[in-house]
Amino acid sequence: MDLFKANYHTHSLYCDGKCKLSEHIKEAEKLNYKQLGFSSHAPVPFENKFAISMDNLSKYCEEIDDLQATTNVKLLKALECDFVPNLTFDFFHLQQENNLDYIIGGIHLVKPTNGDELWFIDGSKREIYDEGLEKLFNNDIRKAVTTFWEQTFEMLETQKMDIIAHVDKIKMHNADRFFTEDESWYKTLANKALQLIKKYDIVMEINTRGLYKKRCNSFYPSIEILRNARKMDIPVVVSSDAHDAPELSLFIQEATFALAQCGYDHTARYDIERKCFIF
Ligand SMILES: [Zn+2]
Ligand SMILES: [Zn+2]
Repeated sequence: MDLFKANYHTHSLYCDGKCKLSEHIKEAEKLNYKQLGFSSHAPVPFENKFAISMDNLSKYCEEIDDLQATTNVKLLKALECDFVPNLTFDFFHLQQENNLDYIIGGIHLVKPTNGDELWFIDGSKREIYDEGLEKLFNNDIRKAVTTFWEQTFEMLETQKMDIIAHVDKIKMHNADRFFTEDESWYKTLANKALQLIKKYDIVMEINTRGLYKKRCNSFYPSIEILRNARKMDIPVVVSSDAHDAPELSLFIQEATFALAQCGYDHTARYDIERKCFIF
């Protein structure tokens, strides 16, 4: 298994991460990484505690540029962009405005078809997931989960991104309580997402954060989805979604092993000249 030594999904004090950019760089040097991508949560047009502010974006980009002189690890500028229909900023616009190397698209907030309140499916608190399920979807788990996947389809169809983050994050707080991943309706939705990922030539990450935060007993995505992705020849990267420097390498070996078991023999990497991911 040829794992390209890089991590493209990291957070810092600019958003909800716990360390400085320079601390991630030191850790990447120890790990002999060739590339390190910074992917703060992109600004969103509402009050929140997790995203970088619009005012801080240029400082973030400048700091990354300045830090490049201090290291041999190739640093990359990126954002992890949330997609909420008719609310969030256009991904391509954010990329162009800030001259970013790439964009990660990911869903953390689900918008019900009626009403403006959002269902927060991420974070450490399972109660928030359960409360939203009850309040916004009347405990109709199939409707709630379908809304998540349909929002994912709309993101893939309308936004330009290089990597899709934690594609089946919706399973995390479910924890096999309300549905199981082997139900046919669920598999159909996950497969449709893979078809769109393939259609738009997007890289799918295998994200280890659920495992080391002990919020989930599998990678995002689950092995079954990875196997199907392999059959479709969908490019993959391994990422730890590190919110602190010591998290950079957590469960990377296990993820690499899982990829190999699914039939992958290499991962995608960022091509500096072509300014895109190649597989
Ligand atoms: Zn995320
Ligand atoms: Zn992230």
